[in-house]
Amino acid sequence: SIPLGFFGGIGSASKQGVLVKGGNYLEALNSVQTVVMDKTGTLTEGVFDVAEIVPEGDWSKGDLLKLAAQAETNSNHPIAQSILEAYQGENIKSDEIDNYQEIAGHGLKVTVDGKEILAGNHKLMEREDINYNDRIDSSGTIIYVACDNEYVGYILISDKIKEDAKEAISGLKRLGVDKFVMLTGDNKQVAQSVADELGLDDYYAELLPDQKIEKVEEMLNRSDDDQNLIFVGDGINDAPVLARSDIGVAMGGLGSDAAIEAADVVLMKDKPSNLIDAINIAKFTRKIIW
Ligand code: ADP
Ligand code: MG
Repeated sequence: SIPLGFFGGIGSASKQGVLVKGGNYLEALNSVQTVVMDKTGTLTEGVFDVAEIVPEGDWSKGDLLKLAAQAETNSNHPIAQSILEAYQGENIKSDEIDNYQEIAGHGLKVTVDGKEILAGNHKLMEREDINYNDRIDSSGTIIYVACDNEYVGYILISDKIKEDAKEAISGLKRLGVDKFVMLTGDNKQVAQSVADELGLDDYYAELLPDQKIEKVEEMLNRSDDDQNLIFVGDGINDAPVLARSDIGVAMGGLGSDAAIEAADVVLMKDKPSNLIDAINIAKFTRKIIW
């Protein structure tokens, strides 16, 4: 049975916007050694601004943006929202869209008005054998676009680190967390700049969803049994990792339903610093129970 004090702890957590789905997770929050985080939407806002639109050859900026918007019309990814916002043209009707494929960790392959559009990262271009212009030197998230196997250009978008991410990490360090690791499907340049700015111990970039699970499993195998690993994420693809980690934490506002469902703890305000509150409440609750 669950000691009564846990209900008090869960109640005070919920007042701070932290939903804890059971006393065992509140107890587990007392011994957290490692915090593993997704990048987009967890450490960053998950709201991208379009910084550059760079068409290839005879294509215009308008053509490039329209093709990207056509491909992204049905996607829920934060990248899609930013491209659709930048595209101010006429609405794209969903009955013009056929063969919609969202390829995890790569991007989209969609047929619109009979044209096959690709919009995604370099892995997508390589997988589809597109002769593209690699912009590995750009410091942002790059969306390459191709139409009927012809490279059309790229769109550079950028996201911002959440204001409270730094505070979250320093506060968690003071509470005894000693390892911070970021996992992302985004490119190495972006991952490195976020990791440097936040002073993370480690990061892994360009991961496919299955590789995120593998990384977390490796870390779980290496860690002490009495020390817990938290994974913090927000996306549909994060649900399996949330389920596998000792404590899965999802962002409640930005998070996908799948992530919120799979999580043990939900941060309703999307603020990573609320994890500090969660651990403080866990410590206080333990004090009054034992
Ligand atoms: P993250 O780990 O940052 O949440 P995802 O696994 O969702 O990343 O995506 C990894 C990468 O795959 C993105 O950085 C992007 O390059 C590409 N990608 C994913 N979804 C889309 C999309 N809808 N449009 C274009 N590119 C996408
Ligand atoms: Mg994500």
